[in-house]
This record gives sequence, C-alpha cells and structure tokens, in this order.
Amino acid sequence: MRIVLLGPPGSGKGTQAAMLKERLGVPHISTGELLRAAVADGTELGKKAKAAMDAGQLVSDDLMLGLIEEKLGRPEVAPGFILDGYPRNLAQARALDELLDRLGQPIDRALELTVDEEQIVQRLAKRAEEEGRSDDTEEVVRNRLAVYHEQTAPVSSHYEEKGILVRVDGIGEIETINQRLADALA
Ligand code: ADP
Repeated sequence: MRIVLLGPPGSGKGTQAAMLKERLGVPHISTGELLRAAVADGTELGKKAKAAMDAGQLVSDDLMLGLIEEKLGRPEVAPGFILDGYPRNLAQARALDELLDRLGQPIDRALELTVDEEQIVQRLAKRAEEEGRSDDTEEVVRNRLAVYHEQTAPVSSHYEEKGILVRVDGIGEIETINQRLADALA
C-alpha cells in the first residue's frame, strides 16, 4: 500500500503516520524528520536545507527529489510506504508521479487530514512549548501556513483529479482519527 499523507502543519500527520505504519507494516517516510536529522548531522543536504527550514519556506524541489528518489529506491519500501511531508507543491507532485510511474508503483491513496486554522495555531503554540522546534515560533508558523495555503493545498486537488483523495476529519481523539484513516484505506 503506497500512501501520501496530506494536511497543514500541526494537523497530526507525524503522529498518525507513526500509528498507520504499525497497522500496515510499511515504513513511514517523513521529509521533515529526514531534513531535521540532516541538519543535526551537519550533512551537505542539511547545510543547504537549513536556511529555508528556519524561515518556514520550502527547501528546493531538486534537493527534495534527490532525497525522495534515494529513499524510494530502497528495498524496505518494496511493500509500500506512508509518505508524510512530500509532495508539498504541484511540481513535487508531478515529479513523484513520474518517479513512481517509472518504478511501476503508483500511489494508491492520498489521505488529507483536515483541521481548521484556529486549532492549528493552538496546537503549534503548544508544540513550541513542549518540543522547542526552531520552526515553531509565531512568525515562522505564519510563514509555514502561508506556504501551505499557496503551494501545498493545490496538491490535494491534484490527487482529487486522479480520484484517489480521501479527506479525513483530523479533529478528535488520536485513536479515533487513526481509525478514520484506516477506514479510508479499506
Ligand atoms: P510541518 O508540516 O509541521 O510544517 P515538517 O516537519 O513536515 O513540518 O517540515 C518542516 C520543514 O522542512 C518545512 O517547513 C520545510 O522547510 C522543509 N520541508 C519538509 N518537506 C519538504 C518538501 N517536500 N519540500 C520542501 N521543503 C520541505
């Protein structure tokens, strides 16, 4: 099962993807986590990505495609994957389609977690207190939300046109939401 998980920052993609991974037995690929690890390790990718991440802007499509190609070429993704944080704009969505067509492994389902803006701002403020992520400050959060609306929201329509998008209510208990996602895959 090859799944793309969509939704605004703070919609709970990371939490839900970790649980879906257990349910489905396929790896969870989070581009945000991969990038944060690259920054922490001081790799070339990390050095190139850091400024954009700190500003709440997108890292370049070229760098991201390199990262994704490398991950999706690995043997452990043969049974499928849950992709979280990619694609984040239409160019990335098209590049991913091309890559997966080439591999003969198209996306089965795109799941979009829907959460209203007020909830998101509250959740991210709470996460900033608890985790201290450097891109959870108020100004950077505003940028990330703007980038989401301008660049990432159209990605949902891309999958809707392909007939593989399911929107799932992202408000409620974590377990309940996970069950909704599982139902959307059935
Ligand atoms: P969130 O979805 O909560 O904003 P992520 O952990 O998914 O956070 O991503 C953090 C940052 O990493 C983004 O703001 C962006 O700078 C960078 N990033 C992650 N995925 C991508 C991507 N597909 N394309 C470009 N930049 C990305």
